[in-house]
Amino acid sequence: MTTFAVMSDGTKAESPNYSNLDRRIRKLQKKLARQARDSKRRNITRIRIAKLHNQITDTRKDFLHKLSTKIVSENQAIVLEDLNVSGMVKNRKLSRAISQQGWREFRTLCEGKSEKLNRDFHVISRWEPTSQVCSECGYKWGKLDLKIRSVQCLNCGTEHDRDENAAKNINRVGIGHCHDYKCTSRWSKTTSVVFVNEA
Ligand SMILES: [Zn+2]
Repeated sequence: MTTFAVMSDGTKAESPNYSNLDRRIRKLQKKLARQARDSKRRNITRIRIAKLHNQITDTRKDFLHKLSTKIVSENQAIVLEDLNVSGMVKNRKLSRAISQQGWREFRTLCEGKSEKLNRDFHVISRWEPTSQVCSECGYKWGKLDLKIRSVQCLNCGTEHDRDENAAKNINRVGIGHCHDYKCTSRWSKTTSVVFVNEA
């Protein structure tokens, strides 16, 4: 997992790489398990593990602060999708990586900074089928397996990166919510219909 977020203009924000720190922590944890209880050496190992955990936290905080500042200062409207992180974390292979990502923290930071700078900040429901619909023509192709990273629309033929297409849809849904609901564009009709179906 290296991509933290994909923007509606296609730019990607890469996550810091924690795997080196992670490997060192796992190694020390094995060492800790072999060391005698209440020994001085064991205590030293324990402190070293705690320091590495702090290093991961600091790296993540620094990354989230910089990214949220950049995004909020460069845009008037910020729309995030409320991901089902707790559901995803049940997948054990993904859980460690996802917990380290700090998506919730990122959302809180964006929200606070948007307020300070008078930006429109929206979070759209995780039930909006943002990855199931073509962002070009509105055609609904349905659920895609998480493995599928790119898709070609059967209706208009556009080739999409999965995440970029979802980001464009999230943007449309979010912008739609902050204007008027009776807006006559084809798009707001499509999303509201889809939303009713999903509910
Ligand atoms: Zn299409």
